[in-house]
Amino acid sequence: MSQPSSATLEKITALCKRRGFVYQSSEIYGGLNGVYDFGPLGSLMKQNIRSAWSQAMMKANDAIVFMDGSILGSYDTWKASGHIDNFSDPMVDCLNCKKRYRTDEIDLERACPHCGKKAWTEARMFNMMFQTQMGPLADPTAMAYLRPETAQAIFINFKNVISTSRVKIPFGIAQIGKAFRNEITPKQFLFRMREFEQMEMEWFCKDAQAMEYFKFWADARKAFYQTIGLDPARIRLREHAPDERAHYSTACIDVEYQFPFGWKEIEGIAHRGTFDLTQHSKHSGKDLNVFDEETKSSYTPTVIECSVGVDRLFLTLLFDAYHEDIIEGEERVVLRLNPRIAPIKAAFMPLTKKQVDPLYQIYARIRAAGFMVQFDESGSIGKRYRRQDEIGTPFCFTYDFESEKDNTVTVRHRDSTKQERINIDDIQQFLEKITHE
Ligand code: ATP
Repeated sequence: MSQPSSATLEKITALCKRRGFVYQSSEIYGGLNGVYDFGPLGSLMKQNIRSAWSQAMMKANDAIVFMDGSILGSYDTWKASGHIDNFSDPMVDCLNCKKRYRTDEIDLERACPHCGKKAWTEARMFNMMFQTQMGPLADPTAMAYLRPETAQAIFINFKNVISTSRVKIPFGIAQIGKAFRNEITPKQFLFRMREFEQMEMEWFCKDAQAMEYFKFWADARKAFYQTIGLDPARIRLREHAPDERAHYSTACIDVEYQFPFGWKEIEGIAHRGTFDLTQHSKHSGKDLNVFDEETKSSYTPTVIECSVGVDRLFLTLLFDAYHEDIIEGEERVVLRLNPRIAPIKAAFMPLTKKQVDPLYQIYARIRAAGFMVQFDESGSIGKRYRRQDEIGTPFCFTYDFESEKDNTVTVRHRDSTKQERINIDDIQQFLEKITHE
């Protein structure tokens, strides 16, 4: 969109609550920090995000298969992956007000920004994995972990997938699922949460082709964000400096979005070398190599990873879509969401009581055809338009006196507020075209 979004974190958070996109989890008990529940509109929008990502993966390469791994993982898995030893952030506490910070968030030479005293504890490492126990015995062998990323399920099932789905190198395994990180300071609403969802794809290839695929995926992933409507001027690729990368990683690129609070990562694309499969092979004692028919030798495939958070992307889409403008002399808030992402595709609005029945029949037919549409009959027409604008509904259909005569309805476009007449028999096709683009 050409004009800048007027979104702030406060406005987005308030809209999410007001319209049933997102609620603070356990709100009636005072709230659970860094954890959120998605309401009727939020859950629909999340489904649309997952579906757009899966579609993009399917279209990008036909050698991509999907899987759905478990959330609970064994000590062995997370020891091998390096998370038990290294998945930690350094933190300090203020001895005066007890506020806790990540050391990279504050200047330890200065006073606590919260209470104004300078009384820091020593910095210490804090492991961000959530631990739990499986079965009735609390001994160390019963220790289990909630996964802090979805990717490891892909690596430990690499051989299962190869031997059961007839894929051959190069191929990818894609997965969507929950991840849990005991973030020291969850903040910025859905940006940094303790329970969130990831969409990850691990691409397995020969090392000689890895850089080529790395570039391919970086470009493909950047292009994806335009197809779901994000403003291209607010998206950039940022290559990591060597000291930002893990020791095993040859290259790493973040897809960043320009939030009001700065350019921030929304997706990470990483050349992970052979680290993950090598680690799991070493710790499990299982051979995770593949056989190369050409050279008649076995080798460990190289991995390129694309990893994005559903919730962080959800927040990004809201920031990008949020606008305030003046329509017919009235101020409105409008979410200019891409129709594929919008939770409600269209609203059907009768103008008089007499029109309720015929319009309801049209609405019911469209809903039965699989479109998430609403029938909206309460309040003035202006009020109804504002309500639908605010939740990002791209189209509103009204039925009027002419409709009976010429079998047409009026469709109002959310962004331009322009109206046009279309034949009632063409509504389904109209929505199909616009929501599948
Ligand atoms: P950050 O530096 O922002 O903590 P990260 O580099 O640790 O992110 P990755 O481990 O690369 O993140 O995770 C991949 C993606 O998962 C991120 O780009 C982001 O979209 C999402 N993600 C990671 N941590 C969180 C979180 N705490 N809350 C919401 N989404 C997250």
